Formats: sequence, C-alpha cells, structure tokens
Amino acid sequence: MIYLDNNATTKVDAQVLEAMLPYFKEEYANPSSIYDFAKRSNYAVREARGKMKDFFNAENEKEIIFTSCGSESANTAIRGVLNMNKNKRHIITTKVEHPCVLNLYKALEKEGYKADYIDVNSNGELDLAQLSECINDDTALVSVMYANNETGVIFPIEKISEIIKSKNKNTKFFVDAVQAAGKIPIDVQALGVDLMGISGHKFHAPKGIGALYVNSKTLITPLIIGGHQERGKRAGTENVPYIAGMARASELAADGLEYEATEVKRLRDKLETNILKNIFNSRINTGIINRVPNTTNIGFEYIEGELILLHLSDAGICASSGSACTSGSLEPSHVLRAMNVPFTAIHGSIRFSLSKYTTEKEIDYVCEKLPAIVDKLTNLSPFQDELEALKKRR
Ligand code: PLP
Repeated sequence: MIYLDNNATTKVDAQVLEAMLPYFKEEYANPSSIYDFAKRSNYAVREARGKMKDFFNAENEKEIIFTSCGSESANTAIRGVLNMNKNKRHIITTKVEHPCVLNLYKALEKEGYKADYIDVNSNGELDLAQLSECINDDTALVSVMYANNETGVIFPIEKISEIIKSKNKNTKFFVDAVQAAGKIPIDVQALGVDLMGISGHKFHAPKGIGALYVNSKTLITPLIIGGHQERGKRAGTENVPYIAGMARASELAADGLEYEATEVKRLRDKLETNILKNIFNSRINTGIINRVPNTTNIGFEYIEGELILLHLSDAGICASSGSACTSGSLEPSHVLRAMNVPFTAIHGSIRFSLSKYTTEKEIDYVCEKLPAIVDKLTNLSPFQDELEALKKRR
C-alpha cells in the first residue's frame, strides 16, 4: 500500500505512541486530582503545554489550549472572539477555507453576522487588496488558513496580519494552521497572529487531539462549558495520553522541518515533473508557486477523478480528489472552483500528499502505474476531439 493522502491524516509515529502508552496503562490518574498519584499525569500535561508553547513559539504556556481537533480549535477561536465582542457584527474569511471555518461562517451569517469571503486567483493566491478594502470599524475577526488542504498553497500570514492591524487594530486574526503544522515553520509572534489552531493527526499524532494558541491580549469565551480545565477556556478532563502524544509529535515535527523542505519536496517535485512530462492531459492546478512541500494538486483533463482514484486504489495507491459526492451528483471542490480551474480539469483533479514516510521507490511505482491508468481512462472519455486538439497544443 502506498499512502499519498497525508493531508487527510497521517500515520502515528512509533515514538509518539511510545510517549502515550504510560498514560493509558499505569499513569491513568485524573490530572486535577489532589493525591500524589495524579502528580505525574498533571506533570505530563504541564510538560506537554510547554512543548506546544515552543512549537507555536508562543510567549507563555497559558496561551495554549488543548482541544479535540482542528475543527474544535477553529470553532473555539471564532465563536470565542465573537462572543467577547458582541457589538461588532462583521467577519471576514476566504473562499477556500476548510469547512470547519466556512460552514461556521455560514451559520454565523444566519445568526445575523455580515460575512465577506475573499477571492483567490487562478494560482490559489489570496486577493490582498480585496481583503484590505473589506476591513472596517465593525470587523471583529478575520480568519485565514496558513496552507490550503487541497492545493498546499501557503498564504502570506505575516503580510495579512500587517494589513489587518493597519486597518483596524482591534480586529482579531485567527489562522487555521492545520495543514502548515509539521510542514513549514510556525511562529505566532513573528507572524503577528492573535489565535492559531492545529490538529495532531496531520503531523503523526493520533486523531482526536488539537491545540489552539490564543495570545494573552485576546479574550475568548469557552465553547465547551463545564469544569475549570484549560483555565476555564475548555472544559473536560484532559486527554492525557493524546496530549502527551501530540507534544512528542510536535518535537519530532520541528526536528523534521528540514527533511520536509528538502527530501519530501524533492519527491513531490519528482512525482509532479514525471506526471507533467508523461501525461499530456495533465496540469498542476496551482502552478508552481509557494506551497507546502508535500502537496500537489493535478488536474487530468476530460476524465473523472473518482475513476482515477479507484484505479489507483486497485494498484494499491491512496490519493484523494477534492470532489465530494453530494446527493448523488459530483460537486467539484469549492477550492478549485474559487480558483476558476477550467471545467475540463476540475472533475479530474487529484491531490497527492506525501509524508516523511514516503519513499523514492513508492514515487517511482506511482510514476510507473499512473500513465497507463490515465491513458486507459482518456481513451474511454467522450471528449476525443477535444483531447486530440489538446494533444496537438501540448
Ligand atoms: N483545517 C484544515 C485546513 C484541514 O485540512 C482540516 C482537516 O482536514 C481541518 C481544519 C479539521 O481538522 P480536524 O479533522 O482535526 O477537525
């Protein structure tokens, strides 16, 4: 099995599992309990918070909140900020956010908020002029992802932060960094963000654990109300093994950034170059711009992405398409639609996302299998005249 769907989720690192095991077995105490036995699980959570502070480069451990996932981090950040600024009713985000932000914004619009959704160009780059124009005195929050899950495109967070603060210094800035964590450096202070969310399972920790950075000048209400855990910002007994696991994963991720930027990128580029060279009806949907090193989104023109995925699966290769099957019809990805990816390629778009576990042999195998699969489907396509014309042009 060749796993090239690491933006969906990643394999748990053996060292992460090892760091978690004691807290399932002997160290199972509730970290809030008073007796000595609980001191070690309490210490584990405190130690993990310190590691996550380093990972974000936060100023203070108190700025870290453990959550259950990236979606919870985003919901806590967005609702938390808005509840603290009830008199402001304007919010901004982009057209290419993950559903955990986009669908929350849609829900907030129904609750009376006015939302602006910023455009991207055909490379997937954000329209910063439009963003700047949208910010006004009533803008409570801007929410922009660090890296896009479907295309890997990196948004210029530092620049966006400067734009926001120059237009309205009271507007809060939340960054969904779920697809950046473990792939590119994260530094909340250098980036100038107020809140940032990540999710453990995207960087070799298990599913079901996330973190939210909230800088000490930003006040939020809790999403989950109950006990005093997480300094009253997120109730629920701490998930000690998963917290310890994500903290270990964050150390490994920080150490592995150089490998991501060199070796993972080299393999991604090799796959991409090979596909473009050997498959005439292929195109990189983003162009070769600033992307996280592990991701490529390739459109195969005049064929169905789902069919490619099924054939890849038969060959033991896992990848994904941006399409979601909604009520029996194939809805193309909102990200690719926002980029105006031509109709000829949007349905045949595939995301390959690598990890530190991806080997050269695996990439060679995909490069060997994919052209025959695409060729077979191309021959079955009802668009033979268009394909012939495309072949002549390329
Ligand atoms: N944000 C982005 C950019 C993502 O890619 C994802 C997951 O795919 C999420 C948020 C949600 O993370 P989780 O699955 O941990 O809720």
